Amino acid sequence: MVRRATHLAGVIETFTRAYFGPDIESRLRPGFFPFTEPSADVSMECHVCRGASTRPGGDPCRVCRSQGWIEIAGAGMVNPRVLVACGIDPDRYSGFAFGLGIERSLMIRHGVTDIRDTVEGDVRFSRAFGMEA
Ligand SMILES: [Zn+2]
Repeated sequence: MVRRATHLAGVIETFTRAYFGPDIESRLRPGFFPFTEPSADVSMECHVCRGASTRPGGDPCRVCRSQGWIEIAGAGMVNPRVLVACGIDPDRYSGFAFGLGIERSLMIRHGVTDIRDTVEGDVRFSRAFGMEA
């Protein structure tokens, strides 16, 4: 099972670098989701401060709250019990899942610094992304 979980980690790293840029770091930390085991929280290096806010003398960062990382997704190996419930033999098959928050993905990819801009309904913001009110 460990090899399969490392495959998940590799797919996530490949995805994040392809989507957000080859120099963006990502990390997985243990997490909990009811349908995956093991589960992980996926974080990416802050696109605004690039971690500088965590260093001595660094300016505070509002986007990552000076953590240097932004959580963007949940992930994990599909729990074998879920596979059994679906009629799939977990000794023969495995699966993994991950899902990104669309607002955070938009922020990181396009340099949006305030997540509230994505939900306030300002047409000047939404038109920039090809949406009409
Ligand atoms: Zn930051």
